[in-house]
Amino acid sequence: MAEDVKPTRKNLMAIDDRIELSERGHDTLEQKRDGLIMEFMDILDQAQDVREDLNTDYENAQQTLDMARAMEGDVAVRGAAAALKEHPEITIQSKNIMGVVVPQIESSRVKKTIDQRGYGLLGSSARIDEAADAYEELLETIILAAEVETAMKKMLEEIEKTKRRVNALEFKLLPDLYDNKEYIEQKLEEQEREEIFRLKKIKNKKEAEEAEEEEEDQEDDSEFADDAIVTTADDWFWIWMSFSCRRCGHDLVSQHVPQSLSSELNVSRSIGFCPRCFAIETVVDSSLKNTLPPPVKDALPTGKAAIGVLLLVHKLEHLAAERAHIEYLLKWSEDAGGDVLLTLDRLSTTRYINPPYELDRRISQLRSIMWVC
Ligand SMILES: [Zn+2]
Repeated sequence: MAEDVKPTRKNLMAIDDRIELSERGHDTLEQKRDGLIMEFMDILDQAQDVREDLNTDYENAQQTLDMARAMEGDVAVRGAAAALKEHPEITIQSKNIMGVVVPQIESSRVKKTIDQRGYGLLGSSARIDEAADAYEELLETIILAAEVETAMKKMLEEIEKTKRRVNALEFKLLPDLYDNKEYIEQKLEEQEREEIFRLKKIKNKKEAEEAEEEEEDQEDDSEFADDAIVTTADDWFWIWMSFSCRRCGHDLVSQHVPQSLSSELNVSRSIGFCPRCFAIETVVDSSLKNTLPPPVKDALPTGKAAIGVLLLVHKLEHLAAERAHIEYLLKWSEDAGGDVLLTLDRLSTTRYINPPYELDRRISQLRSIMWVC
């Protein structure tokens, strides 16, 4: 039966309510049963008395009747009996003993005077009168016995009924309810344990993930730390010692910058030039190779004009901001014998280069600047 109940908190509360109600009902019924038994004992005493009276009265009535018949004869007795005009009447009312309705029998005209009996003074005798008295007495006792014994029977039925209900509550309903309650409590506990276990698992998983993230963060931090270390000039030096362009990864080529350009453009006398993207880095290492790759070298003018054009293509990246330097380099390179526009045109046809700007566009912009100049 217990397994039929759904193990929910709501059902548990409902069962608690039912248990409370049933226990209260059980107590009330037990009190009623005990009260009924006490009342029954009283009625039982009464019934025993009435039984005894009944036996005595019956014996007495039988004896007086026998005597009357012996003395007066059967015919006379029967005649006297037949003469009765008014028959006794009974009315049944009811009374309540602890919720049990028992009859209360009232009788009238049981005991009669001699003239009420209807057989007349002449047709009568002392024996017949005695017999009539005895029977009237017996009838009253019978009526009382009927009342008491019916009440007793009803009380007994009620006691049995109450006992059955008390027992049903005590031995069936309440144990079942307790079983259900225990079952639900167990199931709920199980569910709670499972839930805690589940939450714990989630928590552990989350913590593991967080720990992992933290580890990653620390790794990231250490990466950053590596970067962070690279803030001083010495550190930059070591990065440049890799001889590679930081923007495109191409090998840097060492270039010597003449004093006049170095001071005018505020660049180091010794630079690392990227022949692919035209980036410039300040290089102090003299072991860097100084040979430009052929596609770039072939496009450049010979002599010192080459470095002027190289710096110019580098500056073209920020044409607007570096305009003054560009104009200076343009003039400087032309003066050094280089044909800047020819060099740029040659470079623009070289697939080797890959500057972060559109070289063709810059060339046409440069042409307009030269026109103005
Ligand atoms: Zn580069």
